[in-house]
Amino acid sequence: MISLRNVSKWYGSFPVLKECSIEVKKGEVVVICGPSGSGKSTLIKTINGLEAIQKGDIQVNGISVQDKKTHLALLRIQIGMVFQHFELFPHLSITENLTLAQIKVLKRDKSSAIEKALFMLGKVGLLAQADKFPPQLSGGQKQRVAITRALCMDPLAMLFDEPTSSLDPENISEVLDVMVQLANEGMTMIVVTHEMGFARKVADRMIFMDEGKILEDTLKEDFFHQAKTERARDFIAKIL
Ligand code: ATP
Ligand code: MG
Repeated sequence: MISLRNVSKWYGSFPVLKECSIEVKKGEVVVICGPSGSGKSTLIKTINGLEAIQKGDIQVNGISVQDKKTHLALLRIQIGMVFQHFELFPHLSITENLTLAQIKVLKRDKSSAIEKALFMLGKVGLLAQADKFPPQLSGGQKQRVAITRALCMDPLAMLFDEPTSSLDPENISEVLDVMVQLANEGMTMIVVTHEMGFARKVADRMIFMDEGKILEDTLKEDFFHQAKTERARDFIAKIL
C-alpha cells in the first residue's frame, strides 16, 4: 500500500534522507524510531508529499507521490496525519473541527458529517466533549480529537509523528490506547514514536533510522532481541 524506493533528499548540500526504502502492506503497523535529527519526520512527510524528494520513488496505493500530475491534495485526504501538536481550530467546537474538512473537502452534507463525527467521538470516548472548544480539553483529549478528525475522512492509512511526545505522562496512555484500538481494527499505520510499550503491543515491524539512513527494518521480536547494528542496540538499551 505504501512503498518508498531509494528515496533521497537534501536540504541544500545536507543529505537528510539517504536511499531509504520501505514497503508497508495493507493492515501493517510499522514503528519508526531513532535519534533526534535522524530524519524520521522528514521521511514520513515525504509519503503525503509534505516534503519533496530529489531522488527515488514513492507510491501510495499505486499513486506516484512525486509525479507532478498527481493531485497531492486528494492524496492527503486519503492519508491521515497526526503530529506532535494537535493543530485544532481553537475557535471552533470539537464537532465543528471534525466536520469542517468532511463538508469542505469530501462534500458531505452537514448532517451526515455530524453523524460521522459523533460516531467517531463515541469510539474514542469523547462524545461528552462534542460541544466544547479545544482550549477546554486536556492535551490527551485534544490529541484524541486530532486522531478522530483524521479518521472522519476514512483514510486508507494513518501516519503519526510522535503523537504523545508533547503530552503529560497521565495523558499518554489514553492516546496510545486509541492507537492500539486502531491498529487492532486493521488500520495501516506508520508511527514515529519512542513508546516501546506501544511498539511491543502492535507493531509488525520496527524501523531504526540514523543520520538519514534506515539501519534496521525488522520484525518486532528480532528488533528488541537481536538488532543487527550496534547503533540500534545502543539506542534500544537507552530507551527501554
Ligand atoms: P526529532 O526526533 O528531533 O523529531 P527527526 O528524526 O524527526 O528528529 P527531522 O526533523 O526529519 O529529524 O530532521 C532531520 C534533519 O534535517 C535534521 O538534521 C534537521 O536539522 C534537518 N532539517 C529538518 N528540516 C529542515 C529544513 N527545513 N531545512 C534544513 N534542514 C532541516
Ligand atoms: Mg521528528
